[in-house]
Amino acid sequence: MKKILLVHPWIEDISAYDFWIKPLGLLAVGTVLKETGCEVALIDCVDRAGLGAPDKRFGAGKIPGVPITKPAVLAHVPRHFKRFGMDDVSFDARLHAFGRPDLVLVTCMMTYSYTGAFRAIRRVRAAYPGVPVGLGGNYVSLCLTHARKHSGADFLFPEKSWPAIAGRITRILGAAYPAGRPAPTLIDFSFYPKLRSVAVITSRGCPYRCTYCAAPRLFPVFSQDDPARVAAALAFYTERYAVRDIAFFDDAFLVGAARHCHRILEGVIKQRKRGLDLRFHLPNAVHAGAITETTAALMFEAGFKTVRIGLENSTPGFHADRSSRKLTNQAFERAVGHLTAAGFTAAELGAYVLYGLPGLTPASVLKTLKIVHAAGIRSCLATYSPVPGTPDFERAAQANPMLRQEPLLHNQHLCCHDDPASYQQIRDRANAVNHALMASL
Ligand code: SF4
Repeated sequence: MKKILLVHPWIEDISAYDFWIKPLGLLAVGTVLKETGCEVALIDCVDRAGLGAPDKRFGAGKIPGVPITKPAVLAHVPRHFKRFGMDDVSFDARLHAFGRPDLVLVTCMMTYSYTGAFRAIRRVRAAYPGVPVGLGGNYVSLCLTHARKHSGADFLFPEKSWPAIAGRITRILGAAYPAGRPAPTLIDFSFYPKLRSVAVITSRGCPYRCTYCAAPRLFPVFSQDDPARVAAALAFYTERYAVRDIAFFDDAFLVGAARHCHRILEGVIKQRKRGLDLRFHLPNAVHAGAITETTAALMFEAGFKTVRIGLENSTPGFHADRSSRKLTNQAFERAVGHLTAAGFTAAELGAYVLYGLPGLTPASVLKTLKIVHAAGIRSCLATYSPVPGTPDFERAAQANPMLRQEPLLHNQHLCCHDDPASYQQIRDRANAVNHALMASL
C-alpha cells in the first residue's frame, strides 16, 4: 500500500485570517488516492480547529502566529512579519508519526505565500531524504518559472485540469491512481481530526474576465458541477461531519442561477425542512447583477449568513473597461434592495471595495465607500494583489518590474504602503461608517 502525505503549509505574512479556508484541490487528490487504496494523511499547518484556536464568528477566526524575520525584499515594509500556524515540534511529530511516505504533496495557494511551502518542502526533505515531493496550487500555476528555479520540489503541478493532474500522479505512483477518473464531488474531510466547517466549490472560473482577477487566468473555460450532486454532497457533509458552517468558494456562484445555484439552494431548503440547521457563507464576491428577488429569497431561506457583493469601484466606465460590463451602480443598489427585502440584515451583507488597483484614485475609492454605505451595508476594503498573466499585472509591472521576478511583492498588503496616508484615511472612513452601521442595528 502506497503512503501519501498531504501538506497544507504555514502562511508567512503580515496577517492571516481563516475564512473557512480548506485546501480543496489537495484534499480532492487525497480523496481519490485514499479511495484507490493508498494510505493518506494530511498535515494542515493552518487548521485552526486542530490548533485549538478560538472561533470569532461562525467558525471563522484568526490563525495564531509567531514573529519571524522579514524576507529581505520586504525590509522596507513597516510591519511585523509572522509565521501563522502549527509549531515546528508538532509538525515534525506529525511527520514522524505517519512514517516514511512514498510521495509528499504540498500545496501553495497564493503566489506571495511560497516561503511557507518551501519551508515545508525543506522539513520533509530533512525528515525523509529521497522521498519525492510534489508542489501544486495557484502559486505553481501562476509562477511556474519561479517555482522551477527555487522550490526544490521534484514535481510541479501547474495544471488545473483534473485529468491532467490525475495523469501525472499516475505516472509518479505507477498503477495506483486510475487516470481518467473524474474529480470527486465528495471530498473526504475525515483527514481532519476536528472539523468546525467545510468548504465547497461548485464551479470553476468566471465568464466576466476582469482584468485584475485570477479566475479567468486559472480556469479559462467556465464550468459548473451538477447541482443535484452538489446538494447531495452538502447533505452528506452535514450528516457525516456534524458541521453547521459551509463556505462556497466559487468565483461565480450566481452565474446561470436558474440552472445552477437555485437548484442547489432548493435542495438545501428541503434539508433544512428535515431539521438540518445550516449556515452558509460566500466569502468570495457574488455578482450583484445576478441577485434577483428569487435568488435573494432562496439564499435567505437556505440559511446564508455571510454574503459579499463584488462592487469593487463605482467610477462610471470602470466595469466597462475592466470587467466585461459586469455591473452598474444601479444594479448594485437593486441587489442590496432584493437582499434586504428577503430578510438579510446589514450584519450579514458586505460589499468589496478595491484599493490599490493601478489607475484607481483614492478619491474614487472614497466615493465607492459612500455608495456602499448609502445602500445601508458594510464595506469590505479589499487590497489589490497583482496576478501574473492578467492585463493589470502588466500595468503594475511597468511601474515595478521586480513584480515579474519576486512573487513576495504580489502581497496584497504592500499596496497599502505606496500611499500610507491615503490608505489610512480610507480605512478609517470605512471603519467609522461600518461601526456606526452595526451600532444602529
Ligand atoms: S466577476 Fe469576480 S470572479 Fe469574475 S472575473 Fe471579475 S473579479 Fe473575477
